[in-house]
Amino acid sequence: MLSYEKLFIDGAWVAPLDGSIEETINPATGKPWAKVAFGGARDIDKAVEAAKRALSGPWGKMTAIERGTLLRRLADLYQANANALAELETKDSGRALRESRMDVGSHHQWYRWFASVAETRRGNTIPIDDTVHAYTSEVPVGVVGAITPWNVPLMITAWKLAPALAAGCTIVLKPAEQTPVTSLEFARLVEEAGFPPGVVNVVPGIGSIAGAALSSHRDVDKVSFTGEGQTAKTILQNSTGNMKRFSFELGGKAPHIIFEDADLEQAINAATNSSWALCGQSCALGARVLVQRSVYERVVEGFAERAKQVKVGNPSDPSIHMGPQAHGEQLSKTLSYIQSGVDEGARLVSGGKCLTEGDLAGGFFIEPTVFADVSNNMKIAREEIFGPVACLIPFETEDEAIAIANDSEFGLASGLWTRDMGRAHRVSSQIKAGMVWVNTYRYIRWSTPYGGMKASGWGRENGLEAMSQYLEVKTTIMST
Ligand code: NAD
Repeated sequence: MLSYEKLFIDGAWVAPLDGSIEETINPATGKPWAKVAFGGARDIDKAVEAAKRALSGPWGKMTAIERGTLLRRLADLYQANANALAELETKDSGRALRESRMDVGSHHQWYRWFASVAETRRGNTIPIDDTVHAYTSEVPVGVVGAITPWNVPLMITAWKLAPALAAGCTIVLKPAEQTPVTSLEFARLVEEAGFPPGVVNVVPGIGSIAGAALSSHRDVDKVSFTGEGQTAKTILQNSTGNMKRFSFELGGKAPHIIFEDADLEQAINAATNSSWALCGQSCALGARVLVQRSVYERVVEGFAERAKQVKVGNPSDPSIHMGPQAHGEQLSKTLSYIQSGVDEGARLVSGGKCLTEGDLAGGFFIEPTVFADVSNNMKIAREEIFGPVACLIPFETEDEAIAIANDSEFGLASGLWTRDMGRAHRVSSQIKAGMVWVNTYRYIRWSTPYGGMKASGWGRENGLEAMSQYLEVKTTIMST
C-alpha cells in the first residue's frame, strides 16, 4: 500500500495534529490502496496561519514576473510528471487512464497561461482634472481556501491555483476525502519548484471537519469551492466570521440539443461521449439530450449501438473507455436514479445494471445506460445523477427545445447541433447557461471562462474572469 501519511504545511511535511491516518479506496477493486494523512481543525488553523504569514514574506514582495517564473517552473515539473500523476489519479478516482492522460497532460497549460496573465495585468488611470490624479491597481485577495471535489481533483486544482497564485494569493487546498492522493503529489511539485513556505498548503480531510474549519476560518479571505449545491449552502451558513469572498462551481444538468439539420454522426458521437465520459461524473456533461422528433429514433438507435461499443473495465488499462464510479455511495445513487427512471415510465434502451463478473467483482462498475422517452419533469431529468445515464427527450420546435433546456434549476453548460448558423445564434442567446457549445461539446481551455448561472454557481473559473476573482481593485486618488 502506498503511504501519504504527512500533510504539506508551511513548506514542510508534517504529521496531523488532530487528524488521522485513513485508507483510501481504489474504486476498481473496492480495496484500500494508499494510507493518507487527514487533517483536523488544528491542522487547518496551522495551514491558514502559514498562508497568512506567507503573504507578508518573500512571496508578498515578489514582482509579477517573479511569480510568473515560479509558475512556469511548476508547469515544467507538472508536464514532466503528467503521466505518473495521471496513473495515480486513475487509481484514486477510477477514471479511465486514457481520459486521465489527456486531461492531466493539459494542466501545465493553466500554470503557463496564468503566468503570462500575471505579467500583463495593468491598472487604469482615471482622468479628473489638473489637480487630481486617480488610478487603479490590483492587489491579491489574500488567503484562499480551495475546496475540491472527487471527480477531477487535479483539474479543479489547476483551475483554482493557477489564477490564485498568479494573482499573488496564498492557498490552503483541501481535496475531497475520496481522492486525496494526487493533491499531495502536487504539493511535492510545488516544493520542488521552490515556492516559499506557506504559499501552498495541502491538507486532505473530511468535509464536515477540515472543509468546515477552512471555509469558516476568520483568516481565510476567499473560499473557492467546487462541489454540490447543498455543501455550498452549508459553507455560506457557517461562514459568518468575516466578510470573505466566495466562488462556487456547483452542479449541472446540461441540455445537449440535436436539431434535425445537424451532422447526426458527429452529434451522436459527441452526445454519447459526453454522456459516459468520466463514467458520467462531470458537472458539464450533456445530461439531457434533447432531440428533434424527425430524427429522434435515429438518435435513440445511435445511442443504443454506441453503448454496446463502450469497453468498461480496469481503468488502468489504456484500452478501456470507462472505469468504475468513483465510490460505492455514488454507484448506489446512480442505481437508484435508474430505478426511478424505470418507475416513472422512461424507456430503458440499454444498460442499467452493475457489472460484477470476473475482474470487475468488488469494483463500482456500471453499464453505460440509455433512457429514451424521458419527460423533463421526471426525476432523472431534473436532478444531477452523476452517473453514465443518458436521458433522451424528444421535442418538435426550436421554441420547445429552448423552453425545455431552460426548465431546470441549473444553468452550467449546454450544447447545440445545427448547420443553420442563424438558429445557432438565436438559440444560444436564449439559453440560460454559463456555456453554450455549438457543433462541439466540452471544449474547455485555460483562456475560456467556465462557470454557471442559476443554481450552478457564482463566479467563473478560467480566463481573465478567473484571475479577477483573486484580485481586489484599489483606487488611489491623489491631489496636488
Ligand atoms: P461535495 O460538495 O460533497 O464535496 C466537495 C468538497 O467539499 C469536498 O472536498 C468535501 O470534503 C467538501 N465538503 C463537504 N462538506 C463540507 C462542509 N460542510 N464544509 C466545507 N467543505 C465541505 O461534492 P462532491 O460529491 O465531491 O462533488 C460532486 C459535485 O461537484 C457535483 O454536484 C458536481 O456537479 C460538482 N462539480 C462541479 C464542477 C463545476 O465546475 N461546476 C466541477 C466538478 C464537480
